[in-house]
Amino acid sequence: MPDEQSLPEKRGLILRIQRMSTEDGPGIRSTVFFKGCSLRCVWCHNPESISARPEVHWVGSRCIGCMSCIEACPAGALKGTGSGIVIDRKACTGCLRCSEACPSTAMEVYGRHISAGDLVDEVLKDRVYFEKSGGGVTLSGGEPTQQADFAGEVLKSLKAQGIHTALDTCGQCPWDRLEKLLGHTDLLLYDLKLMDEELHREYTGLCVSQILRNLVRVREFREKTGAPAQIWIRTPIIPFHTDNAENIRAIGTYIRDTLDGMVARWELCAFNNLCAHKYDGLGIDWTCRGYGLVRAGDLERLGHTAAEALSDPGVVHISGATRDSEEES
Ligand code: SF4
Ligand code: SF4
Repeated sequence: MPDEQSLPEKRGLILRIQRMSTEDGPGIRSTVFFKGCSLRCVWCHNPESISARPEVHWVGSRCIGCMSCIEACPAGALKGTGSGIVIDRKACTGCLRCSEACPSTAMEVYGRHISAGDLVDEVLKDRVYFEKSGGGVTLSGGEPTQQADFAGEVLKSLKAQGIHTALDTCGQCPWDRLEKLLGHTDLLLYDLKLMDEELHREYTGLCVSQILRNLVRVREFREKTGAPAQIWIRTPIIPFHTDNAENIRAIGTYIRDTLDGMVARWELCAFNNLCAHKYDGLGIDWTCRGYGLVRAGDLERLGHTAAEALSDPGVVHISGATRDSEEES
C-alpha cells in the first residue's frame, strides 16, 4: 500500500514547473508538478512524480560511456549493458553520487527542493501572461496535498498577490491536508477515475472511499466559506480500465447526487502513451505501453453517457488526442 510521506514545513520537493500551460485551468498558467503521490495508478503519465524522494534516471542520448557513474555508486546499483546503464531500483539508495560523478548530465535527477518563497518568485516571472489571459498558477503532481504545509504557503502567497490559484488533486489524503489548501484555492481540479471499489484498489493501489468522503467535505466547506470558487472534475479515459459506460455513468450519477450545481466542468481526458520513455529511463516495465489512443467515436459516446447522467449536461468536456474509428490500435 502506498505510504504518505511528509517533508519539512514550507520547503518542498517539486519535479518541474511547466510554463505556458493551457490544460490545467483557465488562461495561460504555470503548472507546478509536486513530487510524491498517494496513489499508484497503473496508467500514470508522470511516473517520475510518484516517489517522494529525488531519484536518478539515465538519459542515453547524453551518455559518453565513461562508466564513472558505476564506479561512484556505493550500492552496486548500476550495471553497464548492451542497451545502456541499467539502474537496480531495489538496490538504489538515492544518494545521487552517480549524478554528481557523471560528466555529461546523463545521470539526471528528478526532483529539486525549493522554498515556498523561491517558488512563488519563480512563477511570478510570468505574471504578465497570467494577467493578460485570465490565467494563473496550478499546483499539480504527484500530489500537492502530500506536502500540504508547503503547498498552503505557496497558494496563500499567490492569492495575497492577486494571482488566480488552482489545485489539482487526486483527493487521496487526510481531510485536514485538503482543508488547509481550499481556502487559498480559486479552482479545484478533482480526479474521479473509477467508482468500483475493487477496481479502484486494483488499478490505483487504494480504494475510492476516502476520495469520495473528501469530496463531500469539499462541498460542505464550500457551502460554509464559498471556497473554492469553482470545481472541475477530471476523469482519465484509459483503455480497458476506466473507458466503459458503466463507470462513466456511475461517476456522473455521483456528481449529480452529491455535487449538483457545483461542478463547472467535468472533463473526460483521453489516454496517450507519450510518456513511455519516462518508464524506460526509470527502468519500470509499463503495462499500458501498448495501449493505443482512444477511438474518437468511443470518446464521443462516453461524452454523451456523461451528459445523460447529469442535470446540467453542458458541463461535460472531452479532451486529448484520439484516433479515427477505423484505425487499428
Ligand atoms: S543514486 Fe546512489 S545508489 Fe542510486 S544508482 Fe546513483 S549512486 Fe547508486
Ligand atoms: S557517468 Fe554519465 S556519461 Fe559516464 S557512463 Fe555514466 S551516465 Fe554515461
